[in-house]
Amino acid sequence: MTGTGEQARLLDGRKAAAQIRREVAEGVANFVNRGLAPPALDVVLVGDHPASAVYVRSKEKACREAGLRARIHRLPAETSEGDLLRLVRDLGDDRDVDGILVQMPLPPGIRSRVVIEAVDPSKDVDGFHPLNVGKLWTGRDGFVPCTPLGIVALLEMSGVPIEGARAVVIGRSDIVGRPMAALLMHRNATVTICHSRTRDLASVAARADILIAAIGKPAFVTAEFIKPGATVIDVGIGQVRDVEEAARLFDGDPARLEQVKSRGYTLVGDVHPAEASRRAGALTPVPGGVGPLTVALLLKNTLRAALSLRGRS
Ligand code: NAD
Repeated sequence: MTGTGEQARLLDGRKAAAQIRREVAEGVANFVNRGLAPPALDVVLVGDHPASAVYVRSKEKACREAGLRARIHRLPAETSEGDLLRLVRDLGDDRDVDGILVQMPLPPGIRSRVVIEAVDPSKDVDGFHPLNVGKLWTGRDGFVPCTPLGIVALLEMSGVPIEGARAVVIGRSDIVGRPMAALLMHRNATVTICHSRTRDLASVAARADILIAAIGKPAFVTAEFIKPGATVIDVGIGQVRDVEEAARLFDGDPARLEQVKSRGYTLVGDVHPAEASRRAGALTPVPGGVGPLTVALLLKNTLRAALSLRGRS
């Protein structure tokens, strides 16, 4: 909170995610105790995008820890769109598969929209299929993308009031910004969606009680974007490689500087961490904020798919 010397409360995504994962593990144990095969997630990874490989490994590990069955289909970057579509449709037909996730981004030459439309909507644990997108916007029950779902869970678990709040979402991607806005609207926030063509972005953002930054531009959101005391959710995952820049962004935090020196970078989100922590009331750290929740909600969506496909009897 500005001027008072107080630091924003950090919203601990790891702790919230651990609680959700425990609940999922309990749900999985109940499912299996009924004599059913564990909920099963099939992940399709095409090509050798390094960040995607890391994300897929962490999803696989999280599934195993919660008792879900995870299977990774690793396909070469040269895979044709036709071959990928065949695999995705086969997984849709496979009764041993509950959840399907095609890791994005796909290599150039493969149309992600076409692939997303080939995913069986009842197994679409990423919530990207247009049927699920339509269900979300019309307030029907369907799969919702994991990152915005995780953010709502974190806000609720942290006691941040959503109803009646002014929420500003910066970014309008299908994965984060748009579904985020829909979820907040359904919880009775007054929502403004901003993007690269928004005029006076900082002053629009500075009216928000809840500010969500999902832009993909490191430390873009500075003090003037933030209403004193606001809750700031930082979705971005970027890197800082310069020691002096890291010193500015993290108020000289020795641990961050050591990371840049030893590893070559430290992670930074779309929000300027030092400025935000002096001005916001609550803030998600990067790492340890939104990221862990994304994985936890993927597990929850997969359990939900298994319950609706096989768990009714
Ligand atoms: P995207 O590139 O698809 O969308 C970015 C959005 O930001 C666009 O809608 C664009 O209009 C807006 N934008 C770009 N420049 C802008 C500007 N100058 N001013 C205002 N708006 C601007 O990105 P995305 O998939 O939504 O991801 C955003 C960030 O979140 C990335 O850093 C990504 O790595 C990260 N991410 C994190 C998680 C997680 O689990 N933590 C999940 C998904 C994405």
